[in-house]
Amino acid sequence: MKYAIDLFVDGKRLAGDGDTEFTSVNPATGEAIGQFREASASQIELAIDSATAAQKEWAAFPAEERGRILRKAADLLRARNDELSRIEVDDTGKPIAEAATVDVQTGADAIEHYANLAGSLQGEYQDFGYGFYYTRREPLGVCAGIGAWNYPLQIACWKSAPALACGNAMIFKPSEMTPISAVHLAEVYCEAGVPPGVFNVLQGERGPGAALSEHPGIAKVSLTGSAPTGRKVMAAASPRLKHVSLELGGKSPFIIFDDADPEHAARLAMYANFLTQGEICANGTRVFIHASIYDAVVEKILERTAKLRVGPPSDPSTQIGALISENHLNVVSGFVERAWSAGARVLAGGHRVDVAGCENGFFYAPTVIGDSTDDMEHVREEIFGPVMTLLKFDTEDEVVERANDSDYGLAGGVVTKDLARAHRVAASIQTGMFWINTYQAQPMQIPFGGYKQSGIGRENGWDVLDQYTQKKSVFVQMKDEELPF
Ligand code: NAD
Repeated sequence: MKYAIDLFVDGKRLAGDGDTEFTSVNPATGEAIGQFREASASQIELAIDSATAAQKEWAAFPAEERGRILRKAADLLRARNDELSRIEVDDTGKPIAEAATVDVQTGADAIEHYANLAGSLQGEYQDFGYGFYYTRREPLGVCAGIGAWNYPLQIACWKSAPALACGNAMIFKPSEMTPISAVHLAEVYCEAGVPPGVFNVLQGERGPGAALSEHPGIAKVSLTGSAPTGRKVMAAASPRLKHVSLELGGKSPFIIFDDADPEHAARLAMYANFLTQGEICANGTRVFIHASIYDAVVEKILERTAKLRVGPPSDPSTQIGALISENHLNVVSGFVERAWSAGARVLAGGHRVDVAGCENGFFYAPTVIGDSTDDMEHVREEIFGPVMTLLKFDTEDEVVERANDSDYGLAGGVVTKDLARAHRVAASIQTGMFWINTYQAQPMQIPFGGYKQSGIGRENGWDVLDQYTQKKSVFVQMKDEELPF
């Protein structure tokens, strides 16, 4: 097998010895690239014990020292960009052009960002004359991170960087479909000087994820995954009232007004839909286009979609790689077939693609669906593949109401030259993130997360520091006081 897939506990790789065995498959070739057993119950206990002991040591480091170590980890990660992005390509099927510029880099960006903030974690202070109070920001303890398969390394970094910067330990469980890179991240942390046990990795599917969610030794669970899994994690964490952060799915609106340049709007709509072959939670999959420029924008989208290069993920010119699995390809094509049957029109794509040299790969053509109504399944549910739905609108009030008619509320975007309208729409759309005249922009400073059933809590920004610390208020009495007893 090309890759050894292990757990990582207390600074060492360890083969899983649980009951279930998994085979990791390269989505572009269908070839098995690794085999592993999930973590057993005793290995989960071992990981929690080691993290519990290590967290105390790590939290006692001066915060600036934690920052220095994490900055080194960010540098080491960047130096291994080539190797790690190839791993992500083999594991996820995404194009190397994206993996090499986004996945590892944005993971390193997160570690560097929170390394730099580690020494600035301050509390509050106020003097009342007769006494004063201050707050201490204290770590939560051992946190669990559970990842999805679309950005395996980035997700592991986005969760662990703020957790570690705040003095917590983290046990990370990557998706069973993309298990390889998290262990490499663990090795990078150790090489940088993070004490063994502060970042452990467990492999497996729902077993270890569920065990961590309910375990009394885990103070917080941060999940990136689907809404159904979010509900299960929250339920498992609720008996102990644990802290929970959920980064879940979306069905985000992307709104193009009549003053938009059709060419620019079409390119943005494609960027909002086809990056990482559509396997992005925040994608603007409901593209609302003003009726007066609908035909012009659709023409440009179709022209450009026809030219997208679906190809081997390792080819630097490839724009659309393979979907994560045969099963997921069937889910995506099922949505498209049911859209046809419901009366929508598939204007581009809608079929599997054969890629030379990747005969057993899971490639699906970038797909554009028109003539849809808001109540259709493909307009309401997350597809998580390269499927864009076009919808026509006439007025601002109408489009805002239709855009908000969703159980999800992750992201949204608008294209317009009218500044007042752009901000009015941004204020009216019920989503955690919103882009004006662009899409997908995500510097580390911006809180990332959703409204409604797209999640609870935020990653990135300052917000995440509040979610990996708890504040203790300390009051100091300075003058004699009259006591009633
Ligand atoms: P998933 O919900 O199937 O799995 C997510 C993770 O949870 C996996 O590691 C899985 O093994 C684990 N898991 C499954 N059942 C569990 C249980 N009962 N208890 C604990 N853990 C459990 O999601 P997926 O298919 O891996 O990822 C796709 C989904 O993730 C999409 O809905 C997508 O929108 C979402 N996503 C969200 C974001 C975000 O930041 N909002 C980012 C990426 C992906």
